[in-house]
Amino acid sequence: MKAIVITNDDNNYKAELTDISEDQLPEGDVTVKVDYSTINFKEGLAITGKSPVVRKFPMTPGIDVAGTVETSTHPDYKAGDKVILNGWGVGEVHPGGLAEKIRLNGDWLVPMPEKFSSKQAMAIGTAGYTAMLCVMALERQGVTPDKGEILVTGAAGGVGSVAISILSKLGYTVVASTGRPEEADYLKKLGASDIIDRNELSEKGRPMGKERWAGAVDTVGSHTLANVCATTKYGGVVTACGLAQGMDFPATVAPFILRGVILNGIDSVYCPKETRLEAWRRLAEDLDTSNIDLMTTEVPLSEAIPTAEKILEGKVRGRVVVNVNA
Ligand code: NDP
Repeated sequence: MKAIVITNDDNNYKAELTDISEDQLPEGDVTVKVDYSTINFKEGLAITGKSPVVRKFPMTPGIDVAGTVETSTHPDYKAGDKVILNGWGVGEVHPGGLAEKIRLNGDWLVPMPEKFSSKQAMAIGTAGYTAMLCVMALERQGVTPDKGEILVTGAAGGVGSVAISILSKLGYTVVASTGRPEEADYLKKLGASDIIDRNELSEKGRPMGKERWAGAVDTVGSHTLANVCATTKYGGVVTACGLAQGMDFPATVAPFILRGVILNGIDSVYCPKETRLEAWRRLAEDLDTSNIDLMTTEVPLSEAIPTAEKILEGKVRGRVVVNVNA
């Protein structure tokens, strides 16, 4: 079977498309025939080795899978079931989805919502499921559409695109921050009502600025996250899920202690199963399938490596699904 394999022999970090035997799959109670996987920012980091995402070698990257159960001894799954996998260290410490088959612990799987095909589920992928976790965190803390504008940073990327789409369908007024003004039409079609240049947020700013955001989905980190917190309204909620600008957080405590701003971290990888099931249930309810098509590009497995390089350069719009059988 075909798989992308990352090796790091004698510090020679290398990713290649190769043939492996099924015997090389790890232990696990469910074997899944993969239909689609995806390229997230994390695959960019894993495949290029720019960040230590992969912690065991050789490793097949791919934190996302949509496919069909081939064999199972897990009580919840039988051959023929359609399933989704996001995270749980797959593609980092356990061989991942950029392969024709994957074997894993059935507890990590989520049943595919009936509404989605495998391709649509992967168009959503970890990026979309993370966007939903952000929206659920905003809701949980009382950020309703009448409270004001919601800022989405890294708007033209995967998490950003899905976040805009969900929030606008739920009736929020969404402002998209992007470094790609040429994508303004795309972002408006997804539901953004206003676009701002990401440079307004990406430089070192003041501890507090004019209050604007009722809530935010930040995929960027660094000065951008600090500036978002500094311009969030009294009692507003900032969900922080990404580090596309940087992992640092050069902020002051001023917005938290003087405006009661809530900074809510979001992790998709080890998020508990009940929350994942709820996120996928909500995605089936609150994400417009026509927007899924608008934000998605399909590539064959043979193009996964160059696409992973492109995503780190900020040259990928929306979501990329990988057809592992093409
Ligand atoms: P994408 O590459 O698709 O999107 C990231 C976007 O960030 C880009 O499209 C670009 O948007 C913007 N961006 C890129 N570089 C910079 C920069 N230097 N300064 C400011 N903005 C920048 O990635 P994903 O959507 O897949 O992931 C987004 C982030 O969220 C990543 O850091 C990823 O690791 C993280 N993530 C975290 C998860 C979690 O569990 N916490 C789960 C999923 C993702 P634009 O062109 O519009 O400016």
